[in-house]
Amino acid sequence: MNENNNNEPEKKRGDAGIFIRLLIISIALTAVFNIINTYRILRQTTEVSYSTFIDWIDKDYVKKVEFQSDRIEITLKDNAKPETMAAKLGTTVFRTGYLENDELIPLLLEKNIEFSTPILYNSPILSFVLSWIVPLVFIFFIFRMLTRSLDGRMGGVMGVGKSNAKIYMQQETGVTFADVAGQDEAKESLVEIIDYLHDPEKYSRIGAKQPKGALLVGPPGTGKTLLAKAVAGEAKVTFMSLSGSDFVEMFVGVGASRVRDLFKQAQENAPSIVFIDEIDAIGKSRDNQIGGNDEREQTLNQLLSEMDGFDTSKGIVILAATNRPEVLDKALLRPGRFDRRIIVEKPDLIGRENILKVHSKDVKLGSDVDFKKIALATSGAVGADLANMVNEAALRAVRMGREEVLQEDLLDAVEVVIAGKEKKDRILSATEKQIVAYHEIGHALAAALQKNTQPVQKITIVPRTMGALGYTMQMPEEEKYLMTKAEMYAEIVVLLAGRSAEEIKFGGVTTGASNDIERATNMARAMISMYGMSETFDMMALESIQNRYLDGRSVSNCSPETLAKLDNEVLELIKDCHKQAKAIIGSQAEALDELAQFLIEKETITGEEFMEILGRFTKISKDTDENSDDKE
Ligand code: ADP
Ligand code: ZN
Repeated sequence: MNENNNNEPEKKRGDAGIFIRLLIISIALTAVFNIINTYRILRQTTEVSYSTFIDWIDKDYVKKVEFQSDRIEITLKDNAKPETMAAKLGTTVFRTGYLENDELIPLLLEKNIEFSTPILYNSPILSFVLSWIVPLVFIFFIFRMLTRSLDGRMGGVMGVGKSNAKIYMQQETGVTFADVAGQDEAKESLVEIIDYLHDPEKYSRIGAKQPKGALLVGPPGTGKTLLAKAVAGEAKVTFMSLSGSDFVEMFVGVGASRVRDLFKQAQENAPSIVFIDEIDAIGKSRDNQIGGNDEREQTLNQLLSEMDGFDTSKGIVILAATNRPEVLDKALLRPGRFDRRIIVEKPDLIGRENILKVHSKDVKLGSDVDFKKIALATSGAVGADLANMVNEAALRAVRMGREEVLQEDLLDAVEVVIAGKEKKDRILSATEKQIVAYHEIGHALAAALQKNTQPVQKITIVPRTMGALGYTMQMPEEEKYLMTKAEMYAEIVVLLAGRSAEEIKFGGVTTGASNDIERATNMARAMISMYGMSETFDMMALESIQNRYLDGRSVSNCSPETLAKLDNEVLELIKDCHKQAKAIIGSQAEALDELAQFLIEKETITGEEFMEILGRFTKISKDTDENSDDKE
């Protein structure tokens, strides 16, 4: 309550301060304007004494007299020859001040001299309004407009403004938990927060302290922002969001003042959810950094003290998202700050299926659409990818002139998201096309002829925008959480079989296998260094994953000698797999030719066509046989 009382007047005081400052600046400018104007008039005329003026009237020099508000302007006749210095310089307009003189007008009349006074300038009020009030108001408004528009960009000129432009605020997000598919554990943890936002007093009556903040941790695109919005939507409170990188500016102090602002606004709009995306941008650990970063530290400190300071009884919850929880400063994670950690994982099979369903709510679907299959084909995809796929599929259906989305649209969209768009204008030469075809068939053969592999779904040699000249798509039969050593070995063989086919058919090698080689090497290395799948190193961990939620890069934690041995071991494994791949392809040279010819002609073959042709050459003994039967 305390905070509330303080807050309001402070805001007003702040506004009044701005107003007064603007007003003073405007008055100063108006004064300058007036001084310049007076100076200009003074320069155009030359001052003479009143007695000279009367003398000139007597001598018939004067042609015209004009009574201004503060002076009398005298214009001489062209042929007049006054004996003043200024007159000798060639000026014909003079001025003199006012004196109490009742005889002046009769004298002018008598001498038949033209005289006048401008309507505007002779009224002191009007003249004041014109030379002071009008420019003042004018300047004041121009300033206000300027400071307003600059405020947004630089956080205020001359310390005038408030930097609230980047805060995104929504009174009603309209998003509910129904819009977030899967993520049940995350939702469960958030339910309490929602309840609290509904009725903060229920908690404060009993003396229970609610968490001030929760940290949503997970890979990009898994729905962290969506969850935060859903919390606000479910609780029907204001949703305010800001990205961590918005705080970090070039100018020291700006970030801290943004944090202050954010919390001030949150309190004004309470109950509310404040969502800070990419909190790692400000919350990076402060120690072990060379030089340090003053601005970020200040911002972080401000954030910490605001989090400690704000009044929980008003119903404000801070949610923050990050995919690098390990770099966060420990102080941020202490009780009373972001002490709750909610893991938002990549969706599993059912999760993916549900996400697809959520996003196709408003999409017209054909009867053949099978989301389960799509979900199977998209292992590793996050919510954002899946949302994108549904949209791509709908776009494709429109392009095809259809009224509804079919399964083929969805499958094509999966490919677009995974491998990039088809690049129709990239024409491969006949030789290149041949090489790519043999390469892909090599992969497919190794997949089909080994145990422990996933069945081939589709092979294509239409180039894609993301660099692939062709690819073989395999479809798992079920979601796997564990991989056996045999499966990993078989997969490496499949990866190396593309190049092996090129070697067997053409005798030479091309650059086309670089991605296969990279993936095979990573997998082989992981088998030995992380999964304990080698004799030599047994169950010793040689490497560990650093950025679990980002690229999953690994760091070594052993001596250079051991690393050298590890490299050798990896090489041995890869050589072994390569040999195996060549053996498989070599034993099926005829099938290889036949399939490659077919692929060159058609550019795309389905898994069934592939198995049908392969079946003519060999009896496929592995279990894929039954599986492909199962599927149709
Ligand atoms: P993050 O903040 O984790 O990077 P977002 O919340 O911005 O991810 O998610 C991006 C988009 O992906 C969302 O707008 C939504 O369309 C979709 N999405 C992600 N996860 C889900 C989910 N679990 N259910 C439904 N849609 C999701
Ligand atoms: Zn390949």
